[in-house]
Amino acid sequence: MLRLTELKLPLDHPEAALRAAIVQRLGVADGDIAGFTVYKRSYDARKRSAITLIYTVDVELRDTLEAGVAERGLAHVTPSPDMRYRFVTHAPGTLKSRPVVIGFGPCGLFAALILAQMGFRPIVLERGKAVRERTRDTFGLWRQAVLDPESNVQFGEGGAGTFSDGKLWSQIKDPHHYGRKVLEEFVLAGAPEEIMYVSKPHIGTFRLVSMIEKMRATIESLGGEVRFGARVEDVRIEDGRLRGIVLKDGEELPCEHVVLAIGHSARDTFEMLHRRGVYIEAKPFSIGFRIEHPQSMIDNARFGAFAGHPLLGAADYRLVHHARNGRGVYSFCMCPGGTVVAATSEVGQVVTNGMSQYSRNERNANAGLVVGISPADYPGDPLAGIAFQRQWERQAFKLGGGDYWAPGQLVGDFVRGRASKDFGDVQPSYTPGVRPGDLSTALPDYAIAAIREAIPALDRQLKGFAMHDAVLTGVETRTSSPIRITRGADYQSINTRGLYPAGEGASYAGGIYSAAIDGIEVAQALALAMTGD
Ligand SMILES: Cc1cc2nc3c(=O)[nH]c(=O)nc-3n(C[C@H](O)[C@H](O)[C@H](O)COP(=O)(O)OP(=O)(O)OC[C@H]3O[C@@H](n4cnc5c(N)ncnc54)[C@H](O)[C@@H]3O)c2cc1C
Repeated sequence: MLRLTELKLPLDHPEAALRAAIVQRLGVADGDIAGFTVYKRSYDARKRSAITLIYTVDVELRDTLEAGVAERGLAHVTPSPDMRYRFVTHAPGTLKSRPVVIGFGPCGLFAALILAQMGFRPIVLERGKAVRERTRDTFGLWRQAVLDPESNVQFGEGGAGTFSDGKLWSQIKDPHHYGRKVLEEFVLAGAPEEIMYVSKPHIGTFRLVSMIEKMRATIESLGGEVRFGARVEDVRIEDGRLRGIVLKDGEELPCEHVVLAIGHSARDTFEMLHRRGVYIEAKPFSIGFRIEHPQSMIDNARFGAFAGHPLLGAADYRLVHHARNGRGVYSFCMCPGGTVVAATSEVGQVVTNGMSQYSRNERNANAGLVVGISPADYPGDPLAGIAFQRQWERQAFKLGGGDYWAPGQLVGDFVRGRASKDFGDVQPSYTPGVRPGDLSTALPDYAIAAIREAIPALDRQLKGFAMHDAVLTGVETRTSSPIRITRGADYQSINTRGLYPAGEGASYAGGIYSAAIDGIEVAQALALAMTGD
């Protein structure tokens, strides 16, 4: 099989054109092609009048032609890599102990799935509820302003990405193609087939719910066990080795191999681990607001006459500005055709994030507009970043009126430094609601100054970005974990043997896809350690 990259065709090319392009690239006859599959399809919209599709394809040639073609050294033609997933080991016939996975977000889910598929019968401990019950609780905050601190957007089956856009790409290096395994498992669980080949796949929130249930059923059918309402409250460490964990009801589970995949919002668990001496360090993250524009405006700005084309879908964007005060401002977790959601897990705080359905057909586009900060901005112990996040989340709660409404402001007013009294052409989508006002005290001064400078500058990159009636909603504080639970090359905590920090909370992933890949890697390392391979 040969892999051909950079095959460029116009957006509305006839179906046969791709095969013709392959024939031309390889310099073979049409009849020499035994078959081909599209590995990736992306687009280049830099020139709005001539948007092109860019294909990567795997081609099978007739008989013995392949070696000859490969030897010709054609540009953008290489042997197709072998991307099949292979288990690194298998559990022995009798298991002396079972591995434990704490947290059932994408990282814990994939760690548990791989361990189960290798025969290790993992025990999963998840503090929140099963996904359908959790959905009801999450809607409780969005519709009735009632927060359940144990069952919400951050906590529960499926983890933080369950109510999301379900974007499934990342810029991480993946030399072993574990991402392929992630996508294959998602398709098996009911994700659309196209996630295997479109360059920026997404699933949308509704489908994710049933997929997660299916994946849990697979884990259980292989002898795994998933326990909900099972918050880990303590760990027993002896001589630098993990010996057991204690659940909220006081039950102690003896265990020596534990995947710690607790996400970036498990602040109480971070505090407990720090108290117990597990090595944790502070790390940079970002803070800012959510910004909303009409999706149609973003589509027109990006795609011009091709706006609305079915192969392009709702347009996204990715913008960066380097502010004069040295801060980087960038768009984060952009959700085309989606809504801004209330994403707090703690009482008396307001946190924003974004989500979409698969169709991405809501009126507004939203994205985080965030400023990079570092531990120098919140000096103190390794957990000082958490106190910093809490400070601004409480301030947003107060500015929003103290009832889980969020504070908001028109972009035009924010740039000019005056309070908003009402919203205009763009109605904010965050529920339970957004109160118009003044966001200038919602973040530290340096962040306000950087965002104020960035908005007009970003308008030069994306026409309309500084639209007067676009809406800012505050605050976006949980862009990534404020800490790192540092691990060594063997994936174990650098001072606690048997503890495998993983995923976004430990700062080894950022997003669903990379958290899932990290779950696979950690599960493999743990399995090898358990079997002594
Ligand atoms: C609204 C929203 C939208 C998002 N949209 C996207 C998107 O479109 N694409 C994308 O790639 N990423 C998105 N993200 C980010 C993505 O969800 C995370 O990067 C990802 O979920 C991290 O996976 P994880 O498994 O490491 O942690 P999490 O998903 O956070 O899972 C951690 C789990 O651990 C559990 N837990 C915590 N503490 C304990 C404890 N003490 N005991 C037992 N269980 C515990 C939690 O309940 C949780 O279920 C979004 C996030 C949010 C909140």
